[in-house]
Amino acid sequence: MAQLSADADGTVLTIEQAAVHAAEQVTAVAGTQTIPLAAADGRVLAQDVVAPVALPPFANAAVDGYAVRFADLAATGQSRLPLSGRVAAGADAAGVAAAGRAVRVFTGAPMPAGADTVFMQEDVALQGDAVILPAGLTRGANVRLAGEDLPRGGLALTAGQRLQPQHLALLAALGLSEVTVRRRVRVAIFSTGDELNEPGTALPPAGIYDANRNLLRALASRAGAEVVDLGILADEPESLATRLREAADCDLILTSGGVSGGEEDHVKAAVEQVGELAFWRVAIKPGRPVAMGRVAGTPFIGLPGNPVAVFVTFAFVARTVIALLSGARPARPYGLPVRLGFSYKKRAGRREYVRVSLEPGPDGIATARKHPREGAGALISLAETDGLVELADELTSIAEGTIAPFFAYEMLTG
Ligand code: AMP
Ligand code: MG
Repeated sequence: MAQLSADADGTVLTIEQAAVHAAEQVTAVAGTQTIPLAAADGRVLAQDVVAPVALPPFANAAVDGYAVRFADLAATGQSRLPLSGRVAAGADAAGVAAAGRAVRVFTGAPMPAGADTVFMQEDVALQGDAVILPAGLTRGANVRLAGEDLPRGGLALTAGQRLQPQHLALLAALGLSEVTVRRRVRVAIFSTGDELNEPGTALPPAGIYDANRNLLRALASRAGAEVVDLGILADEPESLATRLREAADCDLILTSGGVSGGEEDHVKAAVEQVGELAFWRVAIKPGRPVAMGRVAGTPFIGLPGNPVAVFVTFAFVARTVIALLSGARPARPYGLPVRLGFSYKKRAGRREYVRVSLEPGPDGIATARKHPREGAGALISLAETDGLVELADELTSIAEGTIAPFFAYEMLTG
């Protein structure tokens, strides 16, 4: 294989350079829609959300116990206070004054007037009509103050947030039933290759089943896109160009295969016929050929053909582009440290992703075991592992025991 620097096919970019170029190429879709929270999981917030109510909305007990006025407690030692009144969650505390006494309260109950401290029920002894309260509690203990999590008018979420379950819960806690999000990005997906056949059909000699479209459909929809599945394209430049142009009413065209630069790799030429290529190689293995450009003004990404390379390049390149188009803040996932349970040799100047499974390590740092099948076409190796270990561009010889960043597949497919 040719050295990267001497590549005859054009510039080779690092993943970061590719991401910068991609960001320059892409503008977020403008359309927005207001939808119920129940339909908003995974959608991208179009506007900042300012809290219409405080969280919590009123001061309340954080535990089941007894509410008191701190000033009523003995300066030293335990305190004895008469017990009167009871406030449950959802009950009205108006008229239940705590001055000079302890009030029975339950988690979430509004604080009785004047009370500022709650003793946990486990710490309190009942004695007839009184409670014995231990020494040592601080003023304000076990009380959640109004607005202590988020004041009314505070910034709850910012535009560009991709809504996860916890964000939906926050919006609901603020009393909001609807949210304004960007419209979904429409992604056209093609496979290319004369050898490809639809699953469920009989396989001709020299045929294989199209794996990549199922991979990309699921990856793109998990990335928040609406998928427009445009099937399999033959290795034929004219029809490729026509079909690509027809797909340009989508927001992004995503293809796999046909970009390696071989005689039968016609995607690059087809794109140049109906648009232009901005760059088309990224220093990443598996995956190296990744084309990016425009078809009739629509962003185009040509991923490699081998399914593992498709997965990796989608995760680190296409996903960023979909996030940008969606108006989401693209967050590069943070690789968590693992210890390599293998040694490895690689070429300098490209980032390599190794398929690994994790085992618990003696010191709490997991050990990564490399899958025996390393080929870029070996889907079984993706299916049987937990994630990818990232080996930095400049590394060449990596010793067993080295700490390296690990990306769980879940982190790359959310
Ligand atoms: P290419 O980049 O088109 O030369 O393809 C590289 C390798 O990936 C070849 O072995 C192809 O048969 C294989 N390949 C391409 N597209 C797909 C696909 N959609 N599903 C499974 N394998 C594919
Ligand atoms: Mg091909």
